[in-house]
Amino acid sequence: MKFLNIKMMAFLIAVTITAIGSAQDTDLPNVKILATGGTIAGSASSATSGSYAAGQVGIQTMINAVPGIEKLADVSGEQVANVGSQDMTIEIWLKLANRINELLASDDVDGIVVTHGTDTQEETAYFLSLVVKSDKPVVTTGSMRSSTSISAEGPLNLYNAVAIASNPEARGKGVMVSLNDQIHAARDVSKMNTTNVNSFQSPIKGMLGGVFYGRLGFFRTPNTKFGNTSKFSIMGVEALPRVDIIYAYADMSPDLIDMHVKAGAKGIVIAGVGNGNMTDAILNAAKKAYEDHGVIVVRSTRVATGWVLRDNEFKDDDYHTIVSNDLNPAKSRILLMLSLLKERSLFEIQDVFYNY
Ligand code: ASP
Repeated sequence: MKFLNIKMMAFLIAVTITAIGSAQDTDLPNVKILATGGTIAGSASSATSGSYAAGQVGIQTMINAVPGIEKLADVSGEQVANVGSQDMTIEIWLKLANRINELLASDDVDGIVVTHGTDTQEETAYFLSLVVKSDKPVVTTGSMRSSTSISAEGPLNLYNAVAIASNPEARGKGVMVSLNDQIHAARDVSKMNTTNVNSFQSPIKGMLGGVFYGRLGFFRTPNTKFGNTSKFSIMGVEALPRVDIIYAYADMSPDLIDMHVKAGAKGIVIAGVGNGNMTDAILNAAKKAYEDHGVIVVRSTRVATGWVLRDNEFKDDDYHTIVSNDLNPAKSRILLMLSLLKERSLFEIQDVFYNY
């Protein structure tokens, strides 16, 4: 009898341990990784060569290269595209955003990771932050070194991104960009160095948080609109209005604005000098573009940090120009394209630039 009791106890303990083990597995958050290519999926002929081809490795191979990822979350991957992000398109953005909205609407998905080239990662992340309608975490990541490089940092970046996407503390923070142990808000981050692994920085507002081998913490919450508070939606949208960027410089040719208007631009962002400045001739061409063709001109800046302020050296109302606030030219283009999806007054568009 005593022997049987011990046997029974051993059986019960074994059942309990198995139950805890399987409960832990099924309790793991579900994270979907959507792959789009980039250097993180790139490969080179030599581990010590800086020359490589981006977007070569498939998502499952990338997941397999991350030890311990299966302990963070139930991870599965989908290949949305496989391009160097210099070839990212609005078509891929729309496909990606629609797929993320679809996945996050399901109770079976707790978070999303997007793997992406670093060149235009800040643009994709910002676009997603404006049109993904969920509080669940979306994290973009990539790497500066290709998957075959000596000291490739992609696997750890992917590990950390999955850790962030599975953490409830990351909810309601909008789309985040994580590389090199840092977490950045999509709106605030920029690629600041062409080759360094510490390339991604948020020069004005600082990073959102940090992550170290999957352990993470947040320092702040973004203070602009995104996700559920954003008024922009891509439901039923198949293309975005054309918005071009013109880089300003000393003695720039005044016919540049006309060339873009003729090519069909509905909006133009000027990467202005200093506080969003440009030559008098360009400013007058901008005024004419609005008066004759309804083309909206936004003044951003080619300077890496700082605000572009309204009515600084002239009255913006006199030229019908909008100021970008502290949004860089590439992100200003995205915000203007989304704003132009519907008829909006100059006042409304300026308000968008102050709040998004
Ligand atoms: N050209 C590459 C890309 O953006 C660079 C990178 O991923 O680091 O896809």
